[in-house]
Amino acid sequence: MLSLPVVEALADALPEDDPPRACANVAVMRARTRMSLAPGRTLPARLAYAQRLARSVSTLCDHYENLSGGHPVVLYPQPVALLGLWNHCLGCETCMATDEHGVNANLCCPAADALYEDYRRAPRHVDLTAVGGGGRP
Ligand SMILES: [Zn+2]
Repeated sequence: MLSLPVVEALADALPEDDPPRACANVAVMRARTRMSLAPGRTLPARLAYAQRLARSVSTLCDHYENLSGGHPVVLYPQPVALLGLWNHCLGCETCMATDEHGVNANLCCPAADALYEDYRRAPRHVDLTAVGGGGRP
């Protein structure tokens, strides 16, 4: 869910006691939790899983619009750092390890931790309206 780091970055730009920041961070945590769960084995379980993810996407879109003030925002150069983390995790047995229930085991991976730090330290975002761009990210 690529909207996660965008909403998280926008929320992090707000003061720590700002209610919209807290609400957005709750939505991000909920989405991450939903993504960490296995979809289930039966069709109804998989449909429910897809519906929960869809609700998170919709909620994150609402937070994006609220936090961005309607201005298109892109991450730069965070996408590069995020893709590095993404590519690592998809190919890493430690990052992709699951427990006996099929849920991500959240094992410690120093390489992923370092890539996550690179991502966190990368410049946050650029407002495309300020540079003559446009369109939704
Ligand atoms: Zn890893």
